[in-house]
Amino acid sequence: MTCSICNIGTCTEGITEELFNKNGKLIILKNLPAMVCENCGAKFFSEETSKVILRNLKEVENSKAELEIISA
Ligand SMILES: [Zn+2]
Repeated sequence: MTCSICNIGTCTEGITEELFNKNGKLIILKNLPAMVCENCGAKFFSEETSKVILRNLKEVENSKAELEIISA
């Protein structure tokens, strides 16, 4: 598919990591399947992956750690 951000690049399937900031807590999710734009680097997650992301963020939101690194 063509990237909807830059409208130039083509998105290809890949594995990526993403940094989230939740209430000041940094959460890094690794091994996320995503479509990544070869031109601008924009990442697009499937609905299923979005659910995995939300579930992982919820799991760690009450921990006291300021940084969590999770392999999804
Ligand atoms: Zn792009």
